[in-house]
Amino acid sequence: MGNIENDLKAVALGVGADLVGITTRRRLADGPPSAEPAYLLPGARAVIAFAVALDGDRLQDFIAKQRWRPHCEDRKSVAQTLYTIGDALVDHLRARGHAALNVDLNNNYRPEAGAADVTEMTAFHPEFAHRYAALAAGVGRLGWSGNLLTRDFGARVELGSVLTTADLIADDPIADADHPCDRCRMCTRVCPVEMIDPRAERTVTIAGVTETIARKRANTCCWIGCTGYEGLSTAGTWSNWSPYRLGHPLPEEKAALDNLCIRLQKADPQMQAERNSFNDYRQAVFDPNYFYYTVCGYCRAVCAPRRKERIANRRRIIESGCAALTLDGAHRVADETAVAIRTPFGLQVVVPREALATAGASGTQLPGQFPLDRAVIQYIRRQYGSDDGGMAAEAGGVGTSRLEDARPSSDSKDDGHRP
Ligand code: SF4
Ligand code: SF4
Repeated sequence: MGNIENDLKAVALGVGADLVGITTRRRLADGPPSAEPAYLLPGARAVIAFAVALDGDRLQDFIAKQRWRPHCEDRKSVAQTLYTIGDALVDHLRARGHAALNVDLNNNYRPEAGAADVTEMTAFHPEFAHRYAALAAGVGRLGWSGNLLTRDFGARVELGSVLTTADLIADDPIADADHPCDRCRMCTRVCPVEMIDPRAERTVTIAGVTETIARKRANTCCWIGCTGYEGLSTAGTWSNWSPYRLGHPLPEEKAALDNLCIRLQKADPQMQAERNSFNDYRQAVFDPNYFYYTVCGYCRAVCAPRRKERIANRRRIIESGCAALTLDGAHRVADETAVAIRTPFGLQVVVPREALATAGASGTQLPGQFPLDRAVIQYIRRQYGSDDGGMAAEAGGVGTSRLEDARPSSDSKDDGHRP
């Protein structure tokens, strides 16, 4: 390892990276198309891959539904750190005469035929896949979930990459004997939309390493679960942090899933905003008013380094109850009186019943709300904010809205895993 490689690693570690490695375009050449660094930086010859660990305590509170926002805030802070690491590496490389590019962290997808914008996408292929670079550079290996797993932090990391025209010496990938995934399958059991198959597998090769990972449902399935359009598990006894419900099972077929996802995205107020995290992710994570809305990522959150922890995490998730939206914009655990209300956005929302009684009061609002939450709260205040505390609405006198019992079915004791 030469001086420049050691210097680059010292720079990354010095500004907050927990893990860092180097790979080359040559080593990535056997990977999928999104492992090609020259797509973003013509002439790219090497990649510096780095990872920052998420705060474990906040993650535990998140998956147990004890506290929602601290993990969201941690993700925002980690994203800022990743951009800062990438910028420092780019400066270091450019100062030595090399071209370099700090790859955007998220929401940058390759164009898709027939898709005018992200709302019409269904494949979501990234411009450059951080996880493939991280695998090749020895930062981690792909777990059954397809997420990147590290030996020190499991899958509980966020990734960044810098591309460069510099000629660098590559690190070796982690050896098979040290693979951090033990096939515990906890990731398959905590996905509310059953995205990850517990048995069916496929292979992917990168840098001479062949990973055997789970087959998954269409990417739009995860988009629906991870964005929070459907938060309820198929068992109906627990949800991720989303208070939203489709009110019907997800379709099995890819075409139907894709169409549903497009319809929901078109109706989502987040997608109508001129500036959002989909057209400028970096601007969003450095905006002090931006709230890093996170309701899922459970397949990653469950995946701590030790098996015992993963089993305990899965139990925390399935015993955590279902999320509800309060009218100040908080998410909290629904009690047995919570109700589901139809919204104009193609979704039902679960709210605590007592919130409807005060829907007419102006109330406080938590800062930096998610646009869908904000629009839904405004809708509820309009529809249910009458002097009789919402009883007129409950009686069915408010147009297309209706109240439904949001309690999970008590006959389902399963956790959503279908063997
Ligand atoms: S939860 Fe278990 S099976 Fe899934 S990626 Fe992590 S270690 Fe592998
Ligand atoms: S992010 Fe959520 S919806 Fe997507 S695969 Fe993971 S657990 Fe499932």
